[in-house]
Amino acid sequence: MIVDTHCHLNDDRFDEDRDLIVENLEKDNIKSAFVVGTDLETCKTAIEMATKNKNLYAIIGLYPEYCEEYDENFENFLIENLNNPKVVAVGEIGLDFHTEGYNQKLQEEVFEKQIKIADKFKLPLSIHTREAFDRTLAILKENKQYLHGGSIHCFSGSPEIAKEFIKLGFKLGFGGVCTFKNAKKAVDTLKVVENRDILIETDAPYLAPTPHRGERNEPKYTNLVLEKIAEIRAQDKQILEDQILQNTFDTFERFKD
Ligand SMILES: [Zn+2]
Repeated sequence: MIVDTHCHLNDDRFDEDRDLIVENLEKDNIKSAFVVGTDLETCKTAIEMATKNKNLYAIIGLYPEYCEEYDENFENFLIENLNNPKVVAVGEIGLDFHTEGYNQKLQEEVFEKQIKIADKFKLPLSIHTREAFDRTLAILKENKQYLHGGSIHCFSGSPEIAKEFIKLGFKLGFGGVCTFKNAKKAVDTLKVVENRDILIETDAPYLAPTPHRGERNEPKYTNLVLEKIAEIRAQDKQILEDQILQNTFDTFERFKD
């Protein structure tokens, strides 16, 4: 079975049919989905959903573009909730230099603070990095002693960049992007990394794989991602699926059967 290691089932776009999607997970070959928060509100809903549903787990942290919302209140919230056994990682945290006017200094500070808090709970990270590979790697290297692995969420970088993250103990989260026609780097990387380096995710409701590109993404579409990865790597799909599930257990230690 597949685990969707990064999705936003707490997003408004699932208000109509969220319960049905969760109910059908196992039928759709999805063992579990990790629901990710990006701010205080969505972190709370992620935890609520994970508490109510055996197939859901939560990942909590502050998204880089919301770095200005990082305050004592948020930090206390994190610390109070990271002992919850259904919280499997801190995220999505990281750096995003895409949108004009981004505050690099503050993003980096907030990223580092959350890395150090995760370390107190020995938790892995779910990292968001957009147009910021160099600084993300630099910060992770500077904070190496605080790291407990995790996922580079929605990885679409080159094999060289992939190698750097893997050296730091991270796995690469692949989603819909690797099915896109123009995803050359992600495909190149998927051809050369080891089976043990791969995780699967959707980032739902975003980034639906082909042939659903542009539509609302859902955890069940990880099946299409798995198929594509097996095709790119010319591997047996079942062997790959089993290995990726094992990678998920290895990376997120609180995630249990
Ligand atoms: Zn996300």
